[in-house]
Amino acid sequence: MIALTPEQEEFRRAVARFVDAEVVPEAEAIDERAEFPKRLFKRIGELGYLGLRYPEAYGGVDADMVTYCLFAEELARGSLSVAAAAAMQSLMGTYFVYKYGSEALRRRYLVPALRGDLIATFALTEPNAGSDVANITTRARRHGDHYVLRGTKTWVTSAPVADLLTVAAKTSDERGMKSIALFLLDRSAMGGITLGKSIEKMSVRASVTGEILLEDVEVPAEHLLGGETGGVEKIGGILAEIRVMTAAISVGLARAAYQAALGYARERSAFGKPIAEHQAIAFKLADMLTSLHAAILVTYQAAARLDAGRSIAREAAMAKLFASETAVKITDEAARIFASYGLAMEYPVQRYFRDARFLLPGGGTSEILRVIIGRDLDWDRGPAFA
Ligand SMILES: Cc1cc2nc3c(=O)[nH]c(=O)nc-3n(C[C@H](O)[C@H](O)[C@H](O)COP(=O)(O)OP(=O)(O)OC[C@H]3O[C@@H](n4cnc5c(N)ncnc54)[C@H](O)[C@@H]3O)c2cc1C
Repeated sequence: MIALTPEQEEFRRAVARFVDAEVVPEAEAIDERAEFPKRLFKRIGELGYLGLRYPEAYGGVDADMVTYCLFAEELARGSLSVAAAAAMQSLMGTYFVYKYGSEALRRRYLVPALRGDLIATFALTEPNAGSDVANITTRARRHGDHYVLRGTKTWVTSAPVADLLTVAAKTSDERGMKSIALFLLDRSAMGGITLGKSIEKMSVRASVTGEILLEDVEVPAEHLLGGETGGVEKIGGILAEIRVMTAAISVGLARAAYQAALGYARERSAFGKPIAEHQAIAFKLADMLTSLHAAILVTYQAAARLDAGRSIAREAAMAKLFASETAVKITDEAARIFASYGLAMEYPVQRYFRDARFLLPGGGTSEILRVIIGRDLDWDRGPAFA
């Protein structure tokens, strides 16, 4: 049985109160304007949520993954855009400087980023390299006490507003992934980092996304995070968390869509009774609730096992695959229950429907996740009860 501790229950209620009071009222407007939620982001930092997974010595909270998932789920219930930007900051954006940076780098960058004073992101994807990471061409060449980086990154979360970027680049001309390394780039201190095309999206519009051009950026050698090779393995070190987090935000979005659909089905009448009393709609809601329940279980079971120190690569992939596909289905069914009003901008259900699409590529596409699960198909590892 997965049970929350009283502290986790109280934490969830506190995040829910914040989301209802401060995120929900702004969610529509920031989506419409496709605007990065600067004020909210700062508030999330002040409340300590960006530091949940980091030690207290750096201003963090040292929280477990279950607690982090409660935060991510509740925030996504209010706005998937805000959750996406906050999750990028609090996992990928700050993880590598914490794990591989010097004490001086941690003090200079990690501490203010956990407060929400600096915006941090992660740039791996390139125009010709998404799932196929080995194909990246951004190159880092050593010149004495610094590296010079050149290349183009795309689909970078928070690109137009980011202060800090952890960038993946190759340190040799060898083919393959071996020479991929990670560098911490400081936009205000290093020349040659410019914003390329801003990507106009139909999904998570307030989590702004764009291209970053690196034109001979001089990066001090100290900003190389963890050596000239092994970047992909370093990314692998946080991938399970990223996938479980993506499952948690999928649950949050699906909950919002389910609640909206249930409320509407009880209010809206057709043929003399609330549509919730027509069996076709009641069955839709029953299926939505059942799959939502299953998504919650698979997500929090993976989080609890991660907290127990287990290796959860396969389960994290399953959790992300199942929860994100569930969110896509639930938001679709919710929009069908609203019928024409599911298309109307005055109801949030259209935003839930659009936002759910982000969950498919974020954290690995469903196809790639099936490839990963398919590499380890033995039943006798006992996924359900072990
Ligand atoms: C809103 C948003 C924010 C993002 N933020 C970031 C960010 O901050 N930093 C960052 O680095 N990236 C970011 N990404 C990029 C994201 O990680 C990539 O889009 C993702 O890895 C998929 O890459 P791609 O879109 O190039 O698809 P491709 O890799 O080109 O895939 C195209 C299709 O082919 C399938 N496919 C590819 N390879 C295989 C295979 N071996 N077997 C079966 N099917 C396969 C895929 O599943 C997909 O259906 C973001 C994306 C989005 C949508």
